[in-house]
Amino acid sequence: MMKAIILLSGGLDSTLAAELMSREGLELIAVNFKTPFCLCDRHSSGLGCGSNARRVADSLGIELKIINATEDFLKVLEKPAHGYGANMNPCIDCRILFFKKSRELMEQSGSSFIITGEVLGQRPMSQFRRQMNLIEREAGLEGLVVRPLSAKLLAPTIPEKNGWISRERMLDIAGRSRRPQMALARDLGINDYPCAAGGCLLTDPKFAGRIKDLIDHGELDMQNISLLKSGRYFRLSQNAKLIVGRNEGENKMLAILAKDGDILFEPLGINGPVAIGKGPFSSQLLDVSCRIMARYCDRNGKNYADISYRRLPDDQVMTVWSVCLDEGDLAKLRALTNAA
Ligand code: SF4
Repeated sequence: MMKAIILLSGGLDSTLAAELMSREGLELIAVNFKTPFCLCDRHSSGLGCGSNARRVADSLGIELKIINATEDFLKVLEKPAHGYGANMNPCIDCRILFFKKSRELMEQSGSSFIITGEVLGQRPMSQFRRQMNLIEREAGLEGLVVRPLSAKLLAPTIPEKNGWISRERMLDIAGRSRRPQMALARDLGINDYPCAAGGCLLTDPKFAGRIKDLIDHGELDMQNISLLKSGRYFRLSQNAKLIVGRNEGENKMLAILAKDGDILFEPLGINGPVAIGKGPFSSQLLDVSCRIMARYCDRNGKNYADISYRRLPDDQVMTVWSVCLDEGDLAKLRALTNAA
């Protein structure tokens, strides 16, 4: 039986591709790539993209390999050879990376080609004909990528030419509308596709601004990325930044993420956020940070709050009576730092 690798995010398009190709009598091996920027866990199950892919793979009875591509992805994100999309999404290099890793898996597993749920013209940076060809070429997969949802609109692939799959049964979906895929899902009896639109934090303009800030300051690492996802972000100087929790969950997460050398800010005697300061803080920056903290505290009509802070792992706590930063100053800081 012919073997093929399918890139399975667990979203609607890749689910449809998997369903269609499993009907071609192929032995499918699904692969799911993890990066820190997947949005599926926010949109849906809360269990992450891998769980959506797992659900689809299980329902089709196919093997699933989950590959954490974070390390290689961060290198690509820092300096993408083909540049960024509208925000900080390096889609072409990202696809080349995932395709290369899929090719490795194809070769190791004795598979003959790869399959994706890509739809011609759906995403501006990576799903136009020219870019699709470029990605295939650079990944060493020319003619070996089958996109069953759009195949009839694309040049015949080696699997189609060799009769391994039927070009006749391939589809001709194109464009950004999801309606054809939703209709197809109904026809195929697929009702549960929680990650319909998928998503990537790097396409979010606010988040992208903060990632750019990290890259510009040579600070792109997993702790900093996790911090960006866990609060309001303020760049206070070339080397110092403050991340302020927006809710109880983020406050807990920040407390967990704080490392030795970081400054942990907490309100004293009232409810309010937890914040982490990273980098060298002059007395002026400590003052500004406490005033930002005070701004977000539950001040009961007052315009000040007591804010405590300590440099981890020290136990020595300083407490500062702080007047909250006014909206004008906060807006200036936000404009300077791409903060949310
Ligand atoms: S949107 Fe994000 S995950 Fe998707 S191709 Fe672009 S960079 Fe990669």
